[in-house]
Amino acid sequence: MGATALKPDPAAIAEAARVLRAGGLVAFPTETVYGLGADATDGRAVARLFEAKRRPAFNPLIVHVAGIEAARELVAWTERAETLARRFWPGPLSLVLPRRPGCPVSMLAGSGLPTLAVRAPRGRTAEALLAETGRPVAAPSANAAGAVSPTCARHVLDALGDAVDLVLDDGPCAIGIESTVVDLNGGIARLLRPGGTPAEDIEALIGKLAEPGSSDAPRAPGQLASHYATSLPLRIDAAGAGPGEALLSFGPEAPPGAAAERNLSPGGDPVEAAANLFAALHELDRSGCAAIVAMPVPEDGLGRAIMDRLRRAAAPRP
Ligand code: AMP
Ligand code: MG
Repeated sequence: MGATALKPDPAAIAEAARVLRAGGLVAFPTETVYGLGADATDGRAVARLFEAKRRPAFNPLIVHVAGIEAARELVAWTERAETLARRFWPGPLSLVLPRRPGCPVSMLAGSGLPTLAVRAPRGRTAEALLAETGRPVAAPSANAAGAVSPTCARHVLDALGDAVDLVLDDGPCAIGIESTVVDLNGGIARLLRPGGTPAEDIEALIGKLAEPGSSDAPRAPGQLASHYATSLPLRIDAAGAGPGEALLSFGPEAPPGAAAERNLSPGGDPVEAAANLFAALHELDRSGCAAIVAMPVPEDGLGRAIMDRLRRAAAPRP
């Protein structure tokens, strides 16, 4: 059994939109990772989504919309939101704002919080699907909660095949790391999660972002200490891998001697490294080695998001 994967031609997009509107679950590619979508206004569909991922209900979902117009119907829009959305949407930036009175999104999708994270994703499949569905689509990454995110349809089928009604397969994701999450629900904007939009680019427009944890920001999956976890133990170590260990390397000077190796970017490019990160983790996880050792990546631009994911993958497991 398991879901079928369809190339995202117009017939498949129409079918996927029909499945979503009927309360089904559709996995689809965005520029960040593959998302597991449900009609955000349908509480039962959203409940199925939490169940399929085994995601704790206290972890709110990001609601995907076609653009600024659609976002304004759901949340109390602000000037800063307008500035950021105009510059970065469609793209890997999620904005946390207060729900509007009468907001049709299920309370479960937002874990009962008075705020909602919204974003307009980039990519022909995601954009066509949202346009065709005509509703906000709640979509976390299409993997089991806490595990490595999927960047191709195969990852989705392996992890969630039986729990998904349909998978749209448009090849590997362009950016490969989740969206940056910015909390605009207050005086100072807060970086809740580094991601595909570099924090520096956001700060250039709206000024310095506060760090998460400097207030009572809700704890959500990307903020949990252990997340993005491989089955094998993972540690971060510039010295490289010991005997029988797999190396996740970066740059031209990887220490030799690893039992298995994936180089995120031999040329040392953090954008290329982000695109390769999760697929490399999936592969090394199946290498039969005793552990995965990740070389650190310089923490600017997308390097900050990469190191955030690696630290959480290396964190003690619950
Ligand atoms: P994921 O769906 O796994 O990409 O993770 C969703 C992320 O969105 C979480 O890590 C949170 O940081 C964030 N998020 C979603 N909704 C909210 C919200 N209402 N308030 C704060 N953060 C949110
Ligand atoms: Mg996720």
